[in-house]
Amino acid sequence: MFVLGAGFSKAASEKVSATDRLPLLWELRELVEAWLGTHGLPAPPFPADRFPGAGGPDVERWLSFLAQPPPWVSPADTKRCQAAFIDLSNAIAEVIREQERRVIAVEPVDWLPKLVVKWNGGPAGCWEDDQGKLQPGASDETTTVITFNYDTLPERAYMQTAPSVGHGLPSNGAADLFVAPLAPLEARGLDTMTSRGFARLQLLKLHGSIDWYYSGLEAGPEDIVYHNRIQRWWSEPDPVTLPEFGSIVADKVPFLVPPTAVKTMAYRNAVLRSQWARAASALADADELVLMGFSLPPTDSVVLDMIEMQFDRGRHIFVVDSNSDLPDKIENSLPGRQVHKCYSGITDPIPQWLDNDGRCRCP
Ligand SMILES: [Zn+2]
Repeated sequence: MFVLGAGFSKAASEKVSATDRLPLLWELRELVEAWLGTHGLPAPPFPADRFPGAGGPDVERWLSFLAQPPPWVSPADTKRCQAAFIDLSNAIAEVIREQERRVIAVEPVDWLPKLVVKWNGGPAGCWEDDQGKLQPGASDETTTVITFNYDTLPERAYMQTAPSVGHGLPSNGAADLFVAPLAPLEARGLDTMTSRGFARLQLLKLHGSIDWYYSGLEAGPEDIVYHNRIQRWWSEPDPVTLPEFGSIVADKVPFLVPPTAVKTMAYRNAVLRSQWARAASALADADELVLMGFSLPPTDSVVLDMIEMQFDRGRHIFVVDSNSDLPDKIENSLPGRQVHKCYSGITDPIPQWLDNDGRCRCP
């Protein structure tokens, strides 16, 4: 199975200029602060600079603090923090949507549709034989991909590449990829039908998505999560982002779980929980884990704990990343796994992994 991080989306947006690419977490901070400024919204009561990290502010700690301020913060500042957190959630969704618009204005990078076809057509993974050797070819029918990214590039690539279900049948929808029961936004009034189709690719968006909407952090666990249907063509805008459809989401907010260490409020949602549960059981079944642009943030203890507890020692982890320091970091955080470095510290690691069919190239 596969895990995608911010580095994946950045690599997938390489066809546009550096400033238009989907941002890494620390790059997001400047963009969202600028967005707050241009929309006349107040700066958060505790600025990002108060949360220093390696090489810049620790955005995860910052968002985590604002979402759930500690007890020493005054009641008034607590409310201001939570208001700032809502503003920042909207800002993040807007910034990513804007960057994504630029990315989809040009053709996708060559490897993205190929990778999604491989995921959906299988066999995309490896399995361990009796001798403990990894063999290509998935042992089951489906490919599970965990993503912590909010953008919709994988869904768009799927819509581009998915085979038609058949003559006279509805075309495939991106909703096919989600095991969680999301309600189509059209159910709130747009006059279109829900598409049905079948995908072997299961996409588990564990931090939500810019095109998912819910009632906010205070919503109860049974709150309906709506999703915006991804259009058939890569560059087609989502109807809901057009002004004339604004009222359909006027009382909803984008369902983005901030990349923070403490996410208990958003994690109450039953739809999100079902996805996490699915990810945990897929991890328990997987022989190999392919990390694409996923750097295992040390503050994200929820993810680290899930992999540590569900993905047994002795199993294989492929680090597909241009950063050569990452495999050592993964080995330290997840001891006892067989960490493959054969696709790390190289340029274009994902295309190379694709060209080699994901085979181990370790010396
Ligand atoms: Zn290897």
